[in-house]
Formats: sequence, C-alpha cells, structure tokens
Amino acid sequence: MVLMDTIYLDHASAMPIDSRVFDFAKKYLTDYFGNPSSLYNIGQDAKEAVDESRKKIAELINAETDKTIIFTASATESNNLAIRGTAYRNIKDGKEVLASAIEHISVINPMKDLQKNGWIFNTVLVDKYGVVDLEQLKKMINKNTIVTSIMYANNEIGTIQPISEIAKIVHEKGHFLHVDATAAAGRIPIDVQKDGIDLLTLSSNDLYGPRGAGALYVKPGVKIQSVMPGGGQERGLRSGTENVFAIAGMGEAARIAKKEMKDESNRLIKIRDKLIQEITKIDDSYLTGHPKNRLPNHASFRFSYIEGESILLNMDIHGIQVATGSACSSKTLEPSHVLIAIGLKHEEAHGSMVMTLGQSNNIDQVPKIVKLAKETVERLRKLSPLTK
Ligand code: PMP
Repeated sequence: MVLMDTIYLDHASAMPIDSRVFDFAKKYLTDYFGNPSSLYNIGQDAKEAVDESRKKIAELINAETDKTIIFTASATESNNLAIRGTAYRNIKDGKEVLASAIEHISVINPMKDLQKNGWIFNTVLVDKYGVVDLEQLKKMINKNTIVTSIMYANNEIGTIQPISEIAKIVHEKGHFLHVDATAAAGRIPIDVQKDGIDLLTLSSNDLYGPRGAGALYVKPGVKIQSVMPGGGQERGLRSGTENVFAIAGMGEAARIAKKEMKDESNRLIKIRDKLIQEITKIDDSYLTGHPKNRLPNHASFRFSYIEGESILLNMDIHGIQVATGSACSSKTLEPSHVLIAIGLKHEEAHGSMVMTLGQSNNIDQVPKIVKLAKETVERLRKLSPLTK
C-alpha cells in the first residue's frame, strides 16, 4: 500500500527514507560496495564514506571529535552497548544502574539483564507530565551508580527532560549519564558537551535515514567495552562488517536534519498545537505528556471509556495512521508502562492515541484528522460498555 490518500501520523514507529538521502547513499549498495576494512581502493572508498558520516553525526550533536561516534545497527544495539558495555567495563567501581520509569524497553531490558547477573537496578519516578523527579534522583544516585539512563524525550508522550540538570546530579555522586536521544534527535537541538552527556544513542531511521544503522556517542575518557566480540571494527567496540549504505545515509540524514531542523520544527509545532487544541475539545479527552516541554512533532492523547487499538483500527480504515503507545510493546496487551508511570489507571492507559508528525504532514490535513478522531471516539463510545 502506498501513502497516496493516507495521512501518516506515526513517524515515531517508522519514517520513509528521505529521497535526498537515498540518492546520496545508494551508490554504496552498488558501485561502492567495498568493505571498509579492505586496503585496496574500493574498500578505502567505503571507509571514507563511513568516516564522513561520523563527522556529520558528530556535528549534529556537537561532539568533541568524530572519533566519539561508534556505529551500530540500531538504537536498541546502541542502548545495549552503552548500558552493558559501561557496566561491565567499570565493574570494580560499583554494580548499580539506574533508569527512569519511562525509558524505552531497549534500555529497561538490558538493565533487567544486569540485575539478573547481580547488579542493583533502580528506577526513578516521573511526575504526571513524565518529567523525572530530580529530588528522588539525587537521593538514588551514589558512588556505585555506574550508568544512569534518562531519555532526552519520550516517544510515547513527547515530554522533554531537563537533561543538563540531570547530568549535574549524576556527576555529583555517580558516574556516567547515558541519554537515549532516538525520539529527540533531529527534532530539537542536542549539544552533548553543553548538556554534559557521557553516552548518547541515535537511530538512523528516526532521522529519515535508512534502517539498519544506529550510533553511540562515547565521550572521550568514558570507559566502555564491547558486548559483541568479533573482528574489532569501530575501535573494537562494535564488531561486524559495517553497513556502509545505512551508515552513509545516516550521516547525510543527520546533515540535512541539522540544516533544516529549526524551520521544520517550527512548521510542525503549528500543526501539533492545532491538533492538541482541537482534539482536546472532544469530551473526556486529555493530552498526555508535558503541555509545553514536548517534542515539536508530538501530540498524544487519551480518551476515557474506549480502547486505543480500536481507535487505531477505525482511523486506519479511513486512511489515517496513528499509534497507541509504543510499536515495540504493541504485541502485548499490557498497558504502556509509560502511561502507568505518569499515574494513569490501567483502564485510562488503554485509551491512548499517539500522533507523531513528519515531512508528509501539513496544516491543511488538520480538519480531516480532527473530524475523524471525533467521529471515531463517538462511534466507539456508543459501543463501549464502559461509557457512562
Ligand atoms: N529508543 C526509543 C526512544 C525509541 O522510540 C525506539 C524505537 N523507535 C528505540 C529506542 C529502539 O529503536 P530500534 O527498534 O530501531 O532499535
């Protein structure tokens, strides 16, 4: 199915590759197919493409040097390398890890895995908007806390965290701050040096780049080890032949994001705010996440008495794709841990609808989206045994 007559509002789950990125990177699938570890020309051309991409990504986040960027295959892999690689490498300094209650499962599960192997894993609570409780964070961090992982912005509720304040707290008593910036990068400016970040996760496909590439920023001096031994690529931290097409594309996507972010975000904020203004007029509907400190492309709601899955399917029949919680956990019928963490009851959390905007959206689509959301909610409520 193509996106001709549809309005796609689920960019947090998947984005199309930007055609400029594809045009730039496609030669690395065909003519420039070499292995960056090969010493002859075709190999060195591929190595140059990887190194050029490293520079572009370093520039997007204002990293000290391009050497700080390690390529992986996904945000999930970057999160695993950041958490497990740092925890194991610094084991003699302490065996505690900490995450916010609203982290992505690709952060929570590596920490649970460490817990099974003898580490202490604590979670810091968030307020009703999803902002990390800084007082509790101060109390929880101690000299044994090797990795603290707090996401830059949440993919389900859009809330942006006060990262530089968090970094100060982490560094007062603990060791390293890891930030999952998968949802935030390319939407809001990130400056790892100003923010005081030690490790930062990025994902290519969340920047309109190809799938199959991720990156981990590792601040100079941070001690980390590989979690997947092999041929020793990427400074020995991530073995395996590089996916040059995806990596080159990710760099180009980062370059474009840096150049266009300000204008594009201002454009999306107008659409976002109009959607929030109109959709919260529906009876018993509420915005989830922070009303102001939220991603420019993120509008998320909950509706009483109905199920998010039914909303999603009804909207899809009429050509509008939305999400309900995270695509990664949509295989389970459990309510989203993020919505529970912000204090919603199970039945409230089940009625969530998430809209994440992108390049294909424009302000003229808003009336159609709002009309369909309103009709869908009314139709489902007529059928719902929970309706008052
Ligand atoms: N972190 C966040 C915040 C995400 O939204 C996602 C999913 N897009 C991931 C990590 C994992 O990304 P992937 O499934 O591409 O590895």
